Order: sequence, then C-alpha cells, then structure tokens
Amino acid sequence: MPDPYDLLVIGAGPGGYVAAIRAAQLGLKTVLVEREHLGGICLNWGCIPTKALLRAADVFRLARAGKDFGLDIDGSLGFDMTRIVARSREVAGKLNAGVGFLMKKNKIDVIFGEARLTGAGEVRVEKTAKPAVAPQFPPPREALGPGVYRARNIIVATGARPRVLPGLEPDGRLIWTYFEALKPPALPKSLLVVGAGAIGVEFASFHRTFGVETTLVEALPQILPAEDAEISALARKSFERQGIIALTGTTVAGVEKKADSVIATLVGADGATKTIECDRVLSAAGVVANVEQLGLESLGVKIERGVIATDGFGRANVAGVFAIGDVAGGPMLAHKAAHEGVVCVEAIAGLPAHPLDKGLVPGCTYCHPQIASVGLTEAAAKQAGIETRVGRFPLLANGKAIALGEPEGLVKTIFDKQSGRLLGAHLIGAEATELIQGFVIAMNLETTEEELMRTIFPHPTLSEAMHESVLEAFGRAIHI
Ligand code: FAD
Repeated sequence: MPDPYDLLVIGAGPGGYVAAIRAAQLGLKTVLVEREHLGGICLNWGCIPTKALLRAADVFRLARAGKDFGLDIDGSLGFDMTRIVARSREVAGKLNAGVGFLMKKNKIDVIFGEARLTGAGEVRVEKTAKPAVAPQFPPPREALGPGVYRARNIIVATGARPRVLPGLEPDGRLIWTYFEALKPPALPKSLLVVGAGAIGVEFASFHRTFGVETTLVEALPQILPAEDAEISALARKSFERQGIIALTGTTVAGVEKKADSVIATLVGADGATKTIECDRVLSAAGVVANVEQLGLESLGVKIERGVIATDGFGRANVAGVFAIGDVAGGPMLAHKAAHEGVVCVEAIAGLPAHPLDKGLVPGCTYCHPQIASVGLTEAAAKQAGIETRVGRFPLLANGKAIALGEPEGLVKTIFDKQSGRLLGAHLIGAEATELIQGFVIAMNLETTEEELMRTIFPHPTLSEAMHESVLEAFGRAIHI
C-alpha cells in the first residue's frame, strides 16, 4: 500500500479546493476527492452562474434605460434565454477548468468518485452512484479512480443540497430547485418563488427583469430575514415597484399540479388562505448539509442540528477528522467555506491559526438593487443590550450614484454609543456587494469611529456614502 497522504479532502467546493491548495503550499501531500464537479456548488451551480445570469439582467435593464442616458437604441430590445443560459454555463465551465489547473499547478492529486470514511484515516472511493445533476464538465484527464486511500488527516467538505419542503418535492419540470432555475429550457410566464433568502430573491430579481410575473413567498415576517429590518423594507419597496409580489408571513400549504402549471395554496399570517396559479414554482427554502452516507456515524463523528460539529478550527470530535464549509454549518457562504479551509489546514500544519469569527462574515445578495451587510443589525444590537448610534446616508445625496443613474439606496452604520466600535454596516444600492468589504476590513482591524471619519474616500465614488454614513452617526455628515 502506498504511503498515506498527509491530507485527504472530500469535496472540491470553495471549502475543499481552497483547503487543498493551502495544504499543498504548506508542503502537505494532498489529495482531493470529488464526485461531480471541481468547484462544487459555488462555481458550477451557485455563486458564479447566478451572477452571470444576473449580469445579463443588469445589461438588459441598462439597455432598457438607454433613453435616460441620451441613447437611441433602434428597434425593439429582445433577449434569447438560451444564449443567456449558455453564457452562464460557459462562465461556470471556465472556472471549473480553472480549479483543475490549480490542482495540477499545486501538485494535488484528484480522485473522481464518491468518498466514504471506512476507518481511522481510511477512505473508500467508489464510482459516483447517481449524480444529483448530470456532470456537465469532464473530470481532469489525470484524475485517479475508485479505491481505498489512506490519509493522516481527513477534511469533510461535502457542502449542501436544496432543502425539500413537504409537498414541494422538486420534479424537474413544474417544481424547480436552483438546478432547474439555472438552466431553464425557456422562461416561464409566471413564477412562484418559495423562500425570500438570498437565493430566492436573486432568482426573483432575475426573472422579473425579463418580464416574468413573479411572486415571492416568505414564511418569516420580512424578506431577506437575515438583513437589517430597514434595509429589508427598502428592498421590498423596490421589488414591489418593479412588479414583484412579496408575501411575507406566508407559507405554501400545498400545490396542485396541472398539465403545464401549478395551483398553490398559500396561508397568510392571519390564517387566511388563497390560491395562485403559476407556470413554475422555485423552491428556495434554504439548503441542508450533506452529512449522509459518509460513514460519519460509524466513526462516531458528532452531528448537531444537521451539521458536523466542529471547534473554531474545523476539528470534529474524532481525531484526524475535520469539517469545513456548508457541511459544518452556517453562514452557508462560499467565502466562509474558503476561509474555514485555510484556518483548518493551518491548524493541521501546526501554524498559529485564528478561529473563524462568524460576526465578520459579510453577506451579499446580487439582486437589483444589491444588498450587503456585515455584523450586527440594529435589532440584534438592541437585543444584546447595546446602546447604539446609527448613521444613515441615502445614495440620493451621492454624486456618483446620481451620475450612474442609480440614486436608489442607503448606507446604514451601527456603532456602540459608549465605545464607538463599529458593530455593523448595512447597504442597499448600486455596487453594495463591492463596497461592503471596506466595512469588513474596518471591523476586522477594529478601526475606531474617529479613524473612519478621518479616512479619505475618493471622489466621486459610491464609497463616499460609506464615509457620510459614519459621519452622520456622529452628527457630522456633510451632504445631508
Ligand atoms: P460545495 O460548494 O457544495 O461543494 C461540496 C462538494 O462536495 C460538491 O462538489 C459535491 O459534489 C462534493 N461531495 C459531496 N459529497 C461527496 C462525497 N461523498 N464524495 C466526494 N465528493 C462529494 N455563496 C456566496 O458566498 N455567494 C453567493 O453569491 C452565493 N450564491 C449562491 C447561489 C446559489 C443558487 C446557491 C445554491 C448557493 C449560493 N451560495 C453563495 C452558497 C455557496 O455556493 C456555498 O456556500 C458554497 O458552495 C459552500 O462551499 P462548500 O465547499 O462547503 O460546498
């Protein structure tokens, strides 16, 4: 039997492949096992292809607004969903191939197949039984095949899959998950999106931009339930202006499938029921971690509330077993997975690693207008008994936003009144998902409010609204 690897990683998503690269950099003999597609959900069926679709929606929206910019676009503006989807798949394919290249460059062995822990330091890889989605991109030519592999350390990075609500079981035709929504044969005339988290809201935004009658249903009292209530309310107003019907405090009691449509029964917060007929239903009620059929129970690996229980360094309760990314719990985001991968590998290599601070994981939603946040919401700060100072700056008063024709939005900052510490930042509007990183860095470096106020922001930029929001919290805003 060949020498064991130093590290075997199960799952080639942003958690797994980043962990593998960091391990190779640190001189660990590393192997990565993947059953379907290098890059995981993120690159193939999540973050990247959705952003490629949403980019098409942005271009379409801008082209439609051409007149406002003094442009005459002759003829009618149309779109070809087949080409929009083809571009999105092409982008995903490029990144998938890029991960293959990175594995080769870092001399990381890749095994294609389904992995299962069969004993301490031992993993059996078998031919993938039934991929959830037909793998679109081929595995690298040099990939190893099924067999028994040994490693001193094993990282489980198997990700998550769509949550299935009873009565809303996806059928690939009338009831979709994100897999079907990313590759629709054609746009439906009407769409019911169940779940108004980031995934649901992004697909609602995409479909509405291309004229689909879109209804967004959320069981909780606000859309984007994790976001600050004020930002969520602004998002809702904007979506409603765009024609999205948003129903909060509402659940789907059942669906009746017809030949080419679905009649859904909705129950409101007051218990009243109503029915709506729509062409397709997108079930976007979150994801569940892939903890099954991995041999975790037989090794005694602890699973808590559906995810592998770990300490801040990805260590499970069984020596030599680690877990990162979605399978290790929320926030279920790609950058959290990748960060955990690095922390975990550095701990394995004996470096002085810093555990993940979940309070510093930013969240981004790439709908129109964009939404991004980090840290505490105003309600969460209040609930924690912290007295706050809140700064607000509308993009309506920002020169760049007006020049861009994107004056809709708000930058909200929340400070601890006593210490001046930045507790949270919440943005809605153009490029919010790019801007948020400024606040993430500030919070990570424990920047004081005074330092933030003294920082020079370039003009004209949307980032000036971040500065003004901070100034406003302390009664010093200039442009309002
Ligand atoms: P995954 O990316 O899920 O990768 C896990 C891999 O493990 C998969 O490739 C799977 O095939 C493999 N695997 C599972 N079991 C086995 C096994 N037994 N043997 C071998 N291989 C196995 N996050 C963001 O941060 N930003 C976004 O904009 C964003 N948009 C999203 C949009 C959509 C539609 C979806 C669905 C998700 C989105 N996410 C986004 C979430 C993001 O995709 C996940 O948080 C991220 O992919 C998690 O990374 P991971 O490495 O933990 O797992």
